[in-house]
This record gives sequence, structure tokens and C-alpha cells, in this order.
Amino acid sequence: MDSTTRWISILGIATICFGIALFVLHVPVRTILVFFAIGTPLIALWLYAEEKSKQQKRVDTITKQACICSICKHDQANICLQQKCACCITVKGNDVIGHSINPLQ
Ligand SMILES: [Zn+2]
Ligand SMILES: [Zn+2]
Repeated sequence: MDSTTRWISILGIATICFGIALFVLHVPVRTILVFFAIGTPLIALWLYAEEKSKQQKRVDTITKQACICSICKHDQANICLQQKCACCITVKGNDVIGHSINPLQ
């Protein structure tokens, strides 16, 4: 997690916690909703950034792998990644989720 993502997560959680604390203190609901309105998008943004960095990490791991696939005959998985080889690259939507060097298994 990089520092920007960390700050977004801390800010988001802190805002939500503060909102809950205000609820306990019987502060008008409208005031509390403001905190939730700020906190919720921050947490959503944090989860989105987390997902993106996880995806990046997955791609980085695949790039370093070797490919022994007998269908595309590439020897480096990063070539498969660039060409999105259907034989050994697992894709979910637009995201690459894995590289299988033995697709028959
Ligand atoms: Zn390939
Ligand atoms: Zn292949």
C-alpha cells in the first residue's frame, strides 16, 4: 500500500468512526450523515486503489514467469501478456488474473 492509499484509508475509516461516535453522543442525524457522505466515497476509493495495486502486482508476477506453453510457443510470459494469449492467460473482464503454463491441467 503506498502512502496516498494509506492516507485515504485512514481518513475514510476515521471519518466513519467519528460519525459513529457522534451517533453515540446523540448529535442530529443530519450532521452525522455528512460524515458518512464524506467517509463512504473515501473508503470506496481506497478499495478501488487496493484492487488496482493488487492487479498490478499480479501482472508483475506474471511478467517474471517463463512460459512453456506448447500452443503459443512463447518462452516469456510477458509476451503472452502483451498478446493476451487465450491458451495460457486467464482474463476476467479486462483484468489479467493469471498465467497458466500448463492449461491442460
Ligand atoms: Zn503465449
Ligand atoms: Zn500459450
